[in-house]
Amino acid sequence: MNITDRLIQIRQKIDSIKQRCGRATDSIELLAVSKGRPIDKIKVAILAGQKKFGENYLQEALTKIDALSTDKLEWHFIGAIQRNKTKSIAENFAWVHSVGNEETAKRLSEQRPADLCPLNVCLQINLCGEPQKSGILPIETISLAKYVNTLPNIALRGLMTIPSFTEDFSAQRELFRQMKELKDDLVNQGIYLDTLSMGMSHDFEAAILEGATILRIGSALFDDE
Ligand SMILES: *Cc1c(COP(=O)(O)O)cnc(C)c1O
Repeated sequence: MNITDRLIQIRQKIDSIKQRCGRATDSIELLAVSKGRPIDKIKVAILAGQKKFGENYLQEALTKIDALSTDKLEWHFIGAIQRNKTKSIAENFAWVHSVGNEETAKRLSEQRPADLCPLNVCLQINLCGEPQKSGILPIETISLAKYVNTLPNIALRGLMTIPSFTEDFSAQRELFRQMKELKDDLVNQGIYLDTLSMGMSHDFEAAILEGATILRIGSALFDDE
C-alpha cells in the first residue's frame, strides 16, 4: 500500500473508532511524524491533504521546513530539547510537545519572535517514572503548568506522553486513562488545557478511546510493510 492509501485508511480508522466511542463531533488531529522520512514522502502526504507534521531532530526539521515553506504546513517539535536549540525551535515551530522543565519553557517564551502568535506547548509526562525517559512525573505537573502560565509568549495547551511499549490493549488503555485523569485534575484546579497528545502507530486506537486529541503517527503512515 502507498502513503496516500495508508493515510486514507488511518483517517477512516480514526473516524470509525470515534463513532464507536461517541466522540464523533470532537476533534482528533492526526500529526504525521516525519522524522527520518525524505521530503519526497512528505510531499506525497501533503498532496493527500496532510498539513501537520511532527519532527524530533532540529537540523533535519529545519531543512524540511525550508524546502516545504510554500505549502503552509504546521510543524510540531516532538523530540528532546537541547538547551542551545530553544531559539531555533521557538522561531520555526507552531507547537512543542516535549516541554519538561521551567528553564526550557522560559527560554522558549523569551525567544519566541514577537510577530508570531504564542508558541503552543504540551508538557511531556513520564507516566511510570522510567529513568531513561524524559518528561516530568505526574505529581510535578501542576507546578510546571502554573509556571508556564506565567510566561507571555507560550500557550499551555496540554499534556503529551510516550508510554512504555506494550501490545496489550487494556494496558495501553490504562496508561492513557491515567493521562486523561491527570488532565482533568489540572483542569479542575483551574489550568486551561484542551490537548492530549498521545497515541502512536501501535496504540492509537486505545488513545482515542481514552480521549486523545492529537495522535502522533509515523511508521503506520510512512513505512512500507
Ligand atoms: C517517532 C515518534 C512517534 C511516531 O511513532 P510511530 O510508532 O512511528 O508511529 C510519535 N511520537 C514521538 C515522540 C516519536 O518520537
